[in-house]
Amino acid sequence: RFITLEGGEGAGKTTQLRRLVDWLQGQGIDPLVTREPGGTAAAERMRALLLDSANAELCADAELLLVFAARADHLRQRIEPALAAGRWVVCDRFTDATYAYQGGGRGLDRARIEVLEHFVQRGLQPDLTLMFDLPVATGLARARQRSAPDRFEAEDLAFFERVRASYRAIAERSAGRVCLIRADQTEEAVAAEVKACVASRLLG
Ligand code: C5P
Ligand code: MG
Repeated sequence: RFITLEGGEGAGKTTQLRRLVDWLQGQGIDPLVTREPGGTAAAERMRALLLDSANAELCADAELLLVFAARADHLRQRIEPALAAGRWVVCDRFTDATYAYQGGGRGLDRARIEVLEHFVQRGLQPDLTLMFDLPVATGLARARQRSAPDRFEAEDLAFFERVRASYRAIAERSAGRVCLIRADQTEEAVAAEVKACVASRLLG
Protein backbone atom coordinates (compact mmCIF):
# COMPACT_ATOMS: atom_id res chain seq x y z
CA ARG A 1 0.00 0.00 0.00
CA PHE A 2 1.32 3.40 -1.04
CA ILE A 3 -0.03 6.48 0.81
CA THR A 4 0.97 10.05 0.01
CA LEU A 5 0.26 13.28 1.89
CA GLU A 6 -0.19 16.55 0.06
CA GLY A 7 -1.02 20.15 0.82
CA GLY A 8 0.18 23.72 0.71
CA GLU A 9 2.52 25.43 3.12
CA GLY A 10 1.56 25.12 6.79
CA ALA A 11 -1.23 22.62 6.15
CA GLY A 12 0.04 20.40 8.97
CA LYS A 13 0.86 17.46 6.77
CA THR A 14 4.10 16.56 8.54
CA THR A 15 2.34 16.54 11.94
CA GLN A 16 -0.44 14.38 10.56
CA LEU A 17 2.07 12.07 8.93
CA ARG A 18 3.66 11.38 12.32
CA ARG A 19 0.26 10.67 13.88
CA LEU A 20 -0.76 8.43 11.00
CA VAL A 21 2.45 6.42 11.27
CA ASP A 22 1.97 5.97 15.05
CA TRP A 23 -1.55 4.77 14.44
CA LEU A 24 -0.51 2.36 11.67
CA GLN A 25 2.20 0.94 13.92
CA GLY A 26 -0.49 0.38 16.55
CA GLN A 27 -2.32 -1.70 13.93
CA GLY A 28 0.79 -3.84 13.47
CA ILE A 29 1.82 -2.14 10.24
CA ASP A 30 5.41 -0.88 10.01
CA PRO A 31 5.53 1.44 7.01
CA LEU A 32 8.51 2.91 5.22
CA VAL A 33 8.23 6.63 6.02
CA THR A 34 9.79 8.98 3.54
CA ARG A 35 9.43 12.34 1.80
CA GLU A 36 9.80 14.24 -1.46
CA PRO A 37 11.72 15.89 -2.83
CA GLY A 38 14.24 13.64 -1.10
CA GLY A 39 14.20 10.16 0.38
CA THR A 40 17.68 9.08 -0.77
CA ALA A 41 21.05 10.71 -0.18
CA ALA A 42 21.26 12.04 -3.74
CA ALA A 43 17.61 13.13 -3.83
CA GLU A 44 18.06 15.00 -0.55
CA ARG A 45 20.90 16.94 -2.21
CA MET A 46 18.60 17.74 -5.10
CA ARG A 47 16.01 18.92 -2.55
CA ALA A 48 18.60 21.25 -1.03
CA LEU A 49 19.25 22.73 -4.49
CA LEU A 50 15.51 23.19 -5.05
CA LEU A 51 14.90 24.89 -1.71
CA ASP A 52 18.01 27.06 -1.61
CA SER A 53 17.00 30.70 -2.02
CA ALA A 54 20.43 31.27 -3.57
CA ASN A 55 19.05 29.48 -6.66
CA ALA A 56 16.29 32.05 -7.10
CA GLU A 57 16.96 32.24 -10.85
CA LEU A 58 16.69 28.47 -11.51
CA CYS A 59 14.44 28.16 -14.58
CA ALA A 60 11.12 26.35 -14.25
CA ASP A 61 12.06 23.53 -16.66
CA ALA A 62 15.24 22.80 -14.70
CA GLU A 63 13.19 22.82 -11.50
CA LEU A 64 10.76 20.31 -13.00
CA LEU A 65 13.55 18.00 -14.19
CA LEU A 66 15.26 18.18 -10.82
CA VAL A 67 12.04 17.21 -9.03
CA PHE A 68 11.65 14.19 -11.31
CA ALA A 69 15.35 13.27 -11.12
CA ALA A 70 14.99 13.15 -7.35
CA ARG A 71 11.77 11.13 -7.72
CA ALA A 72 13.39 8.59 -10.05
CA ASP A 73 16.17 7.90 -7.57
CA HIS A 74 13.73 7.72 -4.67
CA LEU A 75 11.36 5.37 -6.50
CA ARG A 76 13.99 2.95 -7.78
CA GLN A 77 16.03 2.80 -4.62
CA ARG A 78 13.45 2.95 -1.86
CA ILE A 79 9.77 3.04 -2.75
CA GLU A 80 9.59 0.32 -5.39
CA PRO A 81 11.69 -2.20 -3.42
CA ALA A 82 9.56 -1.60 -0.32
CA LEU A 83 6.28 -2.06 -2.20
CA ALA A 84 7.69 -5.14 -3.95
CA ALA A 85 8.47 -6.60 -0.51
CA GLY A 86 4.86 -6.03 0.55
CA ARG A 87 5.66 -3.12 2.85
CA TRP A 88 3.44 -0.08 3.27
CA VAL A 89 4.95 3.23 2.18
CA VAL A 90 3.93 6.63 3.58
CA CYS A 91 5.40 9.55 1.67
CA ASP A 92 5.26 13.28 2.52
CA ARG A 93 4.47 14.75 -0.96
CA PHE A 94 4.68 13.05 -4.35
CA THR A 95 3.72 13.84 -7.95
CA ASP A 96 0.57 15.80 -7.10
CA ALA A 97 2.96 18.39 -5.64
CA THR A 98 4.62 18.66 -9.04
CA TYR A 99 1.29 19.37 -10.75
CA ALA A 100 0.48 21.89 -8.02
CA TYR A 101 3.81 23.75 -7.67
CA GLN A 102 5.51 23.39 -11.04
CA GLY A 103 2.24 23.14 -12.99
CA GLY A 104 -0.08 25.50 -11.12
CA GLY A 105 2.50 27.64 -9.35
CA ARG A 106 5.10 28.01 -12.12
CA GLY A 107 2.61 27.68 -14.96
CA LEU A 108 4.20 24.67 -16.71
CA ASP A 109 1.96 22.71 -19.08
CA ARG A 110 0.28 19.69 -17.58
CA ALA A 111 1.07 17.68 -20.72
CA ARG A 112 4.82 18.20 -20.25
CA ILE A 113 4.59 17.04 -16.64
CA GLU A 114 2.63 13.96 -17.75
CA VAL A 115 5.47 12.93 -20.08
CA LEU A 116 7.90 12.87 -17.17
CA GLU A 117 5.40 11.21 -14.86
CA HIS A 118 5.04 8.31 -17.30
CA PHE A 119 8.78 8.13 -17.89
CA VAL A 120 9.64 7.98 -14.20
CA GLN A 121 6.64 6.16 -12.71
CA ARG A 122 5.72 3.74 -15.50
CA GLY A 123 2.13 3.76 -14.29
CA LEU A 124 2.81 3.59 -10.57
CA GLN A 125 0.35 5.72 -8.57
CA PRO A 126 -0.36 6.05 -4.85
CA ASP A 127 -3.23 3.89 -3.58
CA LEU A 128 -4.40 6.76 -1.40
CA THR A 129 -3.56 10.45 -1.20
CA LEU A 130 -4.48 12.48 1.88
CA MET A 131 -4.79 16.08 0.74
CA PHE A 132 -4.81 18.78 3.41
CA ASP A 133 -6.57 21.93 2.28
CA LEU A 134 -6.72 25.30 4.00
CA PRO A 135 -6.85 28.98 3.07
CA VAL A 136 -3.52 30.18 1.73
CA ALA A 137 -3.16 33.05 4.22
CA THR A 138 -3.71 30.71 7.18
CA GLY A 139 -1.12 28.22 5.93
CA LEU A 140 1.51 30.81 5.08
CA ALA A 141 1.16 32.45 8.48
CA ARG A 142 1.78 29.05 10.12
CA ALA A 143 4.71 28.20 7.83
CA ARG A 144 6.42 31.57 8.25
CA GLN A 145 6.21 31.30 12.00
CA ARG A 146 8.16 28.06 12.12
CA SER A 147 11.17 28.77 9.86
CA ALA A 148 12.88 31.16 7.48
CA PRO A 149 11.28 31.10 4.02
CA ASP A 150 12.76 28.63 1.52
CA ARG A 151 12.89 29.37 -2.22
CA PHE A 152 9.19 28.54 -2.63
CA GLU A 153 7.87 30.20 0.50
CA ALA A 154 9.26 33.49 -0.80
CA GLU A 155 6.68 33.41 -3.63
CA ASP A 156 3.67 35.74 -3.57
CA LEU A 157 0.09 34.95 -2.55
CA ALA A 158 -1.03 34.48 -6.15
CA PHE A 159 1.50 31.65 -6.56
CA PHE A 160 0.07 29.81 -3.56
CA GLU A 161 -3.50 30.44 -4.66
CA ARG A 162 -2.62 28.70 -7.95
CA VAL A 163 -1.01 25.83 -6.00
CA ARG A 164 -4.14 25.43 -3.90
CA ALA A 165 -6.45 25.58 -6.91
CA SER A 166 -4.36 22.91 -8.67
CA TYR A 167 -4.50 20.64 -5.65
CA ARG A 168 -8.27 21.03 -5.43
CA ALA A 169 -8.63 20.29 -9.14
CA ILE A 170 -6.63 17.09 -8.67
CA ALA A 171 -8.87 16.08 -5.75
CA GLU A 172 -11.88 16.54 -8.01
CA ARG A 173 -10.61 14.65 -11.02
CA SER A 174 -8.98 11.86 -8.95
CA ALA A 175 -11.66 11.48 -6.29
CA GLY A 176 -11.14 7.71 -6.26
CA ARG A 177 -7.60 8.12 -5.03
CA VAL A 178 -7.64 11.43 -3.15
CA CYS A 179 -9.23 12.23 0.21
CA LEU A 180 -9.64 15.99 0.55
CA ILE A 181 -9.39 16.99 4.22
CA ARG A 182 -10.08 20.40 5.72
CA ALA A 183 -6.88 21.33 7.54
CA ASP A 184 -8.28 24.39 9.33
CA GLN A 185 -9.67 22.27 12.16
CA THR A 186 -7.99 21.10 15.37
CA GLU A 187 -5.11 18.66 15.00
CA GLU A 188 -7.31 15.97 16.63
CA ALA A 189 -10.20 16.53 14.24
CA VAL A 190 -7.89 16.33 11.23
CA ALA A 191 -6.27 13.15 12.60
CA ALA A 192 -9.71 11.57 13.05
CA GLU A 193 -10.53 12.26 9.38
CA VAL A 194 -7.21 10.79 8.33
CA LYS A 195 -7.91 7.57 10.24
CA ALA A 196 -11.43 7.34 8.85
CA CYS A 197 -10.08 7.76 5.33
CA VAL A 198 -7.35 5.16 5.67
CA ALA A 199 -9.63 2.71 7.46
CA SER A 200 -12.40 2.91 4.89
CA ARG A 201 -10.19 2.93 1.79
CA LEU A 202 -7.32 0.65 2.74
CA LEU A 203 -8.20 -1.42 5.78
CA GLY A 204 -11.86 -2.11 5.02
O1 C5P B 1 6.72 19.38 2.22
P1 C5P B 1 7.64 20.49 2.49
O2 C5P B 1 6.94 21.73 2.95
O3 C5P B 1 8.80 20.11 3.34
O4 C5P B 1 8.26 20.81 1.03
C1 C5P B 1 9.40 21.54 0.86
C2 C5P B 1 9.20 22.64 -0.15
O5 C5P B 1 9.32 22.14 -1.48
C3 C5P B 1 7.88 23.35 -0.04
O6 C5P B 1 8.15 24.74 0.06
C4 C5P B 1 7.20 23.03 -1.34
O7 C5P B 1 6.51 24.15 -1.73
C5 C5P B 1 8.34 22.72 -2.30
N1 C5P B 1 8.02 21.77 -3.36
C6 C5P B 1 7.86 22.20 -4.66
N2 C5P B 1 7.59 21.32 -5.66
C7 C5P B 1 7.46 20.02 -5.41
C8 C5P B 1 7.62 19.55 -4.09
C9 C5P B 1 7.90 20.46 -3.08
O8 C5P B 1 7.93 23.37 -4.93
N3 C5P B 1 7.20 19.20 -6.41
MG1 MG C 1 6.41 20.04 5.97
